[in-house]
Amino acid sequence: MPTIKADVKLSGRGIHSGMPVNMVIKPSKKPGIFFQRVDLKGTKPILAVFDNVGDTKMRNTTIGDLASVHVQTIEHLMAALFMAGIDSAIIQIDGPETPILDGSAIEFYRAISNAKKVGKNLKRIIVRRPVQVCAADVLRELPLSVRFKIFIHNLISGRKSDGFVRLSPSEKPVLDITATLVYPEKIIGRQTYSYSFDGTKKSVQDFIKNIARARTFGKFSEWEYLKAHGMGRGADETNVIALNDRGDGTLNSVFWPDEFVRHKIIDAIGDMFTSGGFVIGKLESYKGSHAMNNLVLRKLFSDKDNYEIID
Ligand SMILES: [Zn+2]
Repeated sequence: MPTIKADVKLSGRGIHSGMPVNMVIKPSKKPGIFFQRVDLKGTKPILAVFDNVGDTKMRNTTIGDLASVHVQTIEHLMAALFMAGIDSAIIQIDGPETPILDGSAIEFYRAISNAKKVGKNLKRIIVRRPVQVCAADVLRELPLSVRFKIFIHNLISGRKSDGFVRLSPSEKPVLDITATLVYPEKIIGRQTYSYSFDGTKKSVQDFIKNIARARTFGKFSEWEYLKAHGMGRGADETNVIALNDRGDGTLNSVFWPDEFVRHKIIDAIGDMFTSGGFVIGKLESYKGSHAMNNLVLRKLFSDKDNYEIID
């Protein structure tokens, strides 16, 4: 049950709400990452685990119930906690969303790793049998009206719902992630990136150098629409890569031409940590999403023959 030695304080704005938010990550003796909404007096802490993930519609991962007590956009923070090797903490937060900071995982990681770790290694969750989910599985969970809207949107934009996420056993004791993005926007196009985490300092360094700074992205022309619908109100050029209307360039500069897919690796790491441990296996994400990442974990844990837990 590794935890942190000292409190970590972080403040910023939520990317969707745009509201200021303050967060304190506190050491804990209880296993698990818990979010405690300190602005909602008397509410229980929510365990950041896959079966408490309530909503992934806003292109982020939310724990708790969106209609009541919840915390949105936990994925970058979860990725940073995983990389710092912390699986036990209480996160006090005074709003419904983590601060977006610079849109990546680097500031979370730096703050958490500065606070130092106490305790041993993360619990290991070994994938024994392959499990796979596809975009259609996600669609089935949505109301008919939403499915119809997506169908029409895909028809107009020429997008195909052929994405999948697969978890399968790995020969080595590593979490191997390969993510592929396919976008009609020329600046993204088709991008693939692979990252392997084996728990060593070297693989943490690889994450810091090549992945942790990758930011989330969105089309600039969609910002007004999103803002009108209560999303992306905290998004600006400091925390989102903004694609131009033609889709062949960005309004702010990128760290790498494939920063888009590198960010998907952060999202996948964060989502896999809602398993409660270090998933040993191969994760292939083709046009994946937070929704598919969550469904694949639900499928993994639905059958005891699919996995083994080593404490
Ligand atoms: Zn993200």
